[in-house]
Amino acid sequence: MTDAQWSPAERVRGTGASVFTEMTELARRTGAVNLGQGVPELDSPRGLLDEVAAAVLAGHNQYPPAYGTAALREAVAGHQRRRYGLEYEPQGEVLVTTGATEALAASLLALCDPGDEVLAFDPCYDAYPAGARFAGARLVPVPLAEDGDRFVLDADALRAAVGPRTRVLLLNTPHNPTGKVFTEAELAAIAGLCREHDLTVVTDEVYEHLVYGTEAHRTIAALPGMRERTLTISSAGKTFNVTGWKVGWVCGPAHLVAAVAAAKQFLTYASGTPYQEALARALGGVEEWAAELRRTLQRNRDLLSDGLVRAGLRPYRAEAGYFVQADIRAWGHADGVRFCRELPTRAGVVAIPTSAFHLSPGAPSYLVRFSFCKREKSVLDAVEKLVNAV
Ligand SMILES: *Cc1c(COP(=O)(O)O)cnc(C)c1O
Repeated sequence: MTDAQWSPAERVRGTGASVFTEMTELARRTGAVNLGQGVPELDSPRGLLDEVAAAVLAGHNQYPPAYGTAALREAVAGHQRRRYGLEYEPQGEVLVTTGATEALAASLLALCDPGDEVLAFDPCYDAYPAGARFAGARLVPVPLAEDGDRFVLDADALRAAVGPRTRVLLLNTPHNPTGKVFTEAELAAIAGLCREHDLTVVTDEVYEHLVYGTEAHRTIAALPGMRERTLTISSAGKTFNVTGWKVGWVCGPAHLVAAVAAAKQFLTYASGTPYQEALARALGGVEEWAAELRRTLQRNRDLLSDGLVRAGLRPYRAEAGYFVQADIRAWGHADGVRFCRELPTRAGVVAIPTSAFHLSPGAPSYLVRFSFCKREKSVLDAVEKLVNAV
């Protein structure tokens, strides 16, 4: 068989080179300021780095238990109790994974049979449709609505998307790419629908510590009748600026977590022993660290949002996370992909078209995502270039 005849399996077809790869390569080639991918340029807690080095040298280098080290499982359970008043048994209700990415994939593999449907709000993180596809399931996008400079739940669209094959609602709050934090009322509406239709919720909360201003992160598992049907996923990557470590975790009732562990055991079995040892200690002091990180990120968000206004690229409100959405139509563009391909030469800046996260056929094409998890200088440089390019 020749290369030309060969074709990969259906489940990976078309998931190869993405617009992320293209834009990262464009940034490298043109030397543009890269506000594309959400890779932090910010420091990690020094004590945490020292702890990893010490754990490696102390010999914590072999397989940890399949569910994760006891110390990290206990630290995660303590974190959920202190922050959200939720009790999880460290033995059986907490599973450590290779990043949130593996927790998501293993959850979908554990919960979906071929032909099942998974609901997710659109736009959504690109691992969601891929994970559903690996499980033989179909991701059904539920568009978020625009309300001024915010994105909001469209409860009617959500209700209309539920069908006889719907098994899972995949929630992401704080939300990537929009920076939306789901409100108490929105979560109550979602929870009501999940109870009514007996859906399992998988909630991706990797930005749980990165909420700015007055809106607060709430976890849907804390709502009445939800703990028993919810898998809550988070990760160290975004909270501690250690995206290369790939340590995540999932909490939930033992029968759901056991199913996820059954899938996870044959994806990676386990990983990251020294990182787990170090993170177990760091998680106890996360509130202090996260308060400082939020100050840095919020300043960057404000600099970027103000700069986008001055450049005539109308920003949406980023309540949380790493990203600001902008409306590019004032620059005479309606197509975010073309805009992002031209932006490095026009302005010396790289961004990502939000269409890379959109699955609904009628989704807006005029949105572009800029990341601000960067050094302040990178954000200021990008702003200056955008303003001068007008
Ligand atoms: C970054 C990100 C992840 C991946 O987390 P890892 O711990 O690096 O696997 C998952 N979900 C969302 C929404 C993210 O932004």
